[in-house]
Amino acid sequence: MKLPGFIDSHMHFLGLGYVNFNTDLSSAKSIKELQSELSNSKSKNIIIGRGWDQENLINKRMPTKRDLNLISRDLPIVIIRVCGHILVVNDKMLELANISNESKQIPGGSFDFETGIFTENAIYIIYNKMPKPTKEDIIKYLMTANDILLSKGITQVASDDFSTLPLDYEFVLSTIKELYKKGLLQVKITEQVNLNYNLLKDFISKGYVNKNFGGFRMGPLKILADGSLGGKTASLIKPYENEPNNYGIKTYSDDELFKLINLADSNNMDVVIHAIGDDASEQAINALIKSLEVTKRENHNHAIIHAQLTTKRQIEKMKKWNIGAIIQPIFLNSDIQIIESRIGKRHLESYLFKTMFDSGINVGFSTDSPIEPVNPFANIYTAVTRRSIKFPELEPFLVEESLTVKNAVICYTSNNVRYVYENKLNDGDFIITDENIYSCPFDRIKDIKVLETYIDNKLVYKNKEEV
Ligand SMILES: [Zn+2]
Repeated sequence: MKLPGFIDSHMHFLGLGYVNFNTDLSSAKSIKELQSELSNSKSKNIIIGRGWDQENLINKRMPTKRDLNLISRDLPIVIIRVCGHILVVNDKMLELANISNESKQIPGGSFDFETGIFTENAIYIIYNKMPKPTKEDIIKYLMTANDILLSKGITQVASDDFSTLPLDYEFVLSTIKELYKKGLLQVKITEQVNLNYNLLKDFISKGYVNKNFGGFRMGPLKILADGSLGGKTASLIKPYENEPNNYGIKTYSDDELFKLINLADSNNMDVVIHAIGDDASEQAINALIKSLEVTKRENHNHAIIHAQLTTKRQIEKMKKWNIGAIIQPIFLNSDIQIIESRIGKRHLESYLFKTMFDSGINVGFSTDSPIEPVNPFANIYTAVTRRSIKFPELEPFLVEESLTVKNAVICYTSNNVRYVYENKLNDGDFIITDENIYSCPFDRIKDIKVLETYIDNKLVYKNKEEV
């Protein structure tokens, strides 16, 4: 059947291509399996692994530098947890990063010399010291991501790319721009500009705000307010279950967050904020409101990304101030098995996607890929059934919060128009699928295949296995 091209309103375009060239650790079931995957790496200057989750490992412990030292003491090794907010390194990488047992901790993150585990802001200590990719590498990553997206029926994305790799943002910007100019990228990108306060000032002073380079446009400022639920770094109002002193991690103080938001907001630039915990949502919503009270902007496109533990009261506030929600139903795929252990009874007020939709706030779907697979049909399946594809044996999660197929498609198409700065869906961006999503059984939705993808009425992808 014919459907509009999907719009993914929060993902990492460069990151999606990049991880394709890293060792995939997402199916590791033990530290041993993790080690054997990493030993297969053919990389000559650094081994990078990604996607591990201690919840999937037999004894549920985090890997440590000792496990990694057994693979190599000469090559740096960095392994990033599935959430992207925690990583573990070996002794060689600690040495390159100049970390010893006397190194000072940094605000908004933590690291442990004994285990080699880094969280939140501290992971950038490692990112900044890793061997840098070349321009050829970057081009290879971008073109790979473009191909993956087209094969999944995604024609537009809002994407966070400036802080994915330890590179100058203008280098990333000019490389993407150049590829569009040469006609080498087809998927349209709205950049979710992930920069710190000083770099944002630089970005504004150079006149980049809301600039459109044809197919590649500068969108909102992207801010991270907290971490992840799986990594216990999402910032909560009440502590984590059975850990009375652990409230997670907030990246910014209230003042710092307001200052950053207001710098963008007062320069006519929207802001999208990663907030998973209810405390982070509260802080983000309040800071956005405080800024809007000053700037009095009426047609803003501010939004909260993730909004996993956003409460009903917070949703009402978002509605009142026209703050949108960019959500990832597919997160239930992994989170379904840990939500209760992290927040206990409060799970009954989480992932309130239907409540958000019915409240009238603009709900857009996205995958946060490469955090979760970029396939829109897997995402829609989770939104509609509230079931995990990874753990099909588990009961659906709060089924009363499931959306209809029709509304799920709306969230993936017309509702996302706002987040890519279009006025309406482009009729020339469409896909042909092998099944009718509206009439096939729910169970088949996740397996729907894209046969053809069109952008501006031009065929840009054709499934070779087509029968
Ligand atoms: Zn993200």
